[in-house]
Amino acid sequence: MTTNVVKPTFMFRIETFISVVSTLFFVNFISNRYHHAMNEDRLHTLLVCIARALQSEQRQHAVSAGLLPVQWTILSYLRDANRYSNTPQALAEFLALTKGTVSQSLKLLESHGWISRATDAADRRIVRLGLTETGRAQLGGTASSEWVSAIAQMPRAQHAAAETALAQLLGEWQQTRRGRTFGVCRSCRHFQAGRMEHRCGLTGEALSEEDSGKICREHEEPVDRSDQPALA
Ligand code: SF4
Repeated sequence: MTTNVVKPTFMFRIETFISVVSTLFFVNFISNRYHHAMNEDRLHTLLVCIARALQSEQRQHAVSAGLLPVQWTILSYLRDANRYSNTPQALAEFLALTKGTVSQSLKLLESHGWISRATDAADRRIVRLGLTETGRAQLGGTASSEWVSAIAQMPRAQHAAAETALAQLLGEWQQTRRGRTFGVCRSCRHFQAGRMEHRCGLTGEALSEEDSGKICREHEEPVDRSDQPALA
């Protein structure tokens, strides 16, 4: 009799234990997924907020310079673009606009004497755009000094972690969308840093220190940060 009573109780406890563990596992799984989803949402919301803040800041700079936002963006693009990216085609890609739309703005900026056009010396089919001194003067000072000082306030570890996380996000986006990020040359996976001069691993051409700080249409985020070559 004793055995008959003990066995079902034991079985009951085992089943209850399994059931409780399964429930806890399930609840934990759902909760992790929920928190993960919440974190993704939060991160996305933060990115949207930063993008909006940058856009609004850009609009204010344009208005105070007496320019339309797109004109201000074109001038700042031509100030920052490297020699692989100073064409109407690259500019249209950067703005995500058609070449026709961009060419209207270019004509206007050219008529003010703020930009210049020149045929490429090596390939006469290519038109190179440039920023004139008057065009540079339209841009005034640095657009994002507040951001530079906000970044400078960050503790070094947080700064490094944010940089790694954002670079990874951008890299993932670039791979998934096959989109161009127009990143800064020295952060590109093809950038080969040297002591005297740098080199582009994609074109094989030499890059100056100034080139390394410009933006490039061919820029690719390193898949892994250790991807970037060390000093040659
Ligand atoms: S290293 Fe990358 S970003 Fe720099 S010029 Fe070459 S492709 Fe462009």
